[in-house]
Amino acid sequence: MIYDVIIIGGGPSGMTSAIYSSRARLKTLLIEKAGCGGQIAITDNIENYPGFEQGINGFELATKMQTQATNFGTEFIYGEAVSFQLNDKIKKVILLDNKEYLAKTIIISSGASFKKLGIKGEQEFIGKGVSYCATCDGPFFRNKEIVVIGGGDSALQEALYLTKFAVKVNLIHRRNEFRAAKILQEKVFKEQKINVIFDSVVEEISGKDVLEQVTLKNIKTNTISQLSVNGVFIFVGWTPNTNFLNNQLKLNKQGYIITDDKMNTSIEGVFACGDVREKTLRQVVTAAGDGAIAANSAQHYLEK
Ligand SMILES: Cc1cc2nc3c(=O)[nH]c(=O)nc-3n(C[C@H](O)[C@H](O)[C@H](O)COP(=O)(O)OP(=O)(O)OC[C@H]3O[C@@H](n4cnc5c(N)ncnc54)[C@H](O)[C@@H]3O)c2cc1C
Repeated sequence: MIYDVIIIGGGPSGMTSAIYSSRARLKTLLIEKAGCGGQIAITDNIENYPGFEQGINGFELATKMQTQATNFGTEFIYGEAVSFQLNDKIKKVILLDNKEYLAKTIIISSGASFKKLGIKGEQEFIGKGVSYCATCDGPFFRNKEIVVIGGGDSALQEALYLTKFAVKVNLIHRRNEFRAAKILQEKVFKEQKINVIFDSVVEEISGKDVLEQVTLKNIKTNTISQLSVNGVFIFVGWTPNTNFLNNQLKLNKQGYIITDDKMNTSIEGVFACGDVREKTLRQVVTAAGDGAIAANSAQHYLEK
């Protein structure tokens, strides 16, 4: 079987590609290594996706996208794409379990993964107080004091969400101002449960069996202090999921795929969309927009 389009990754960009591609009657397969939804599957409330005036739960939005793609005829399989042959007219995707799939076009929508801080104790206390997902782990910290690290949209949004559970949220950022959207900053500064600590980094996470404290350093004064907390949530940026491409596509210095505005990559018939590509705004709405363009470009390529 040779598919018209194989899509790698079932986040919002991949699922939008799937909706457009299967609706255009292209034989479409979407390969997802975990569960469909990607980053939105772990997001409590998406406030800025058009059409949902009260916001929408990320998992619910993901389920709606998957149902829509399935209704148009997209096939979904669960597996991790680990290598590719992209240069031939018929392209090959190889999964971790050695299964192979063929297609005339490939759309890479593998998104990005959270970055780790690489500090002492981080790895040791994952699941014992260290988390990268507020929606998944927030309820474990009911009436506890926690730390959130980061200064972007995700960090502020998740700090606000965590006030539903924690008695106090210490929001730690290494600079003296946030880079998050102003509306989020206003909410954070108004929220009494959030204690903002600027100009500071967490140097160490420690405890006996579970996380008990963090060591803070003020980078302006070099003062070291200890904070007794039960949880640390880390939101300090993203790494593109492009390792498996083995440098077959042109990437930028940070490893994001370089595309043009039609989502063409450096290889004909291979497209990229969403957070995995070099762009300025990584959001659900831009991922969906990219996904639609990638599917449309794949369609034009096939018609040629
Ligand atoms: C906590 C948090 C809050 C956010 N809040 C908002 C918000 O309020 N509004 C907003 O617009 N955006 C928000 N975002 C950002 C938004 O979720 C992303 O921009 C969007 O999900 C990007 O979609 P994507 O499809 O490009 O990638 P992703 O969502 O990263 O999906 C990529 C998918 O590809 C899969 N994959 C990766 N590698 C492989 C492989 N080798 N084989 C098979 N599958 C693979 C992954 O498992 C994943 O499911 C938030 C993100 C986070 C983490």
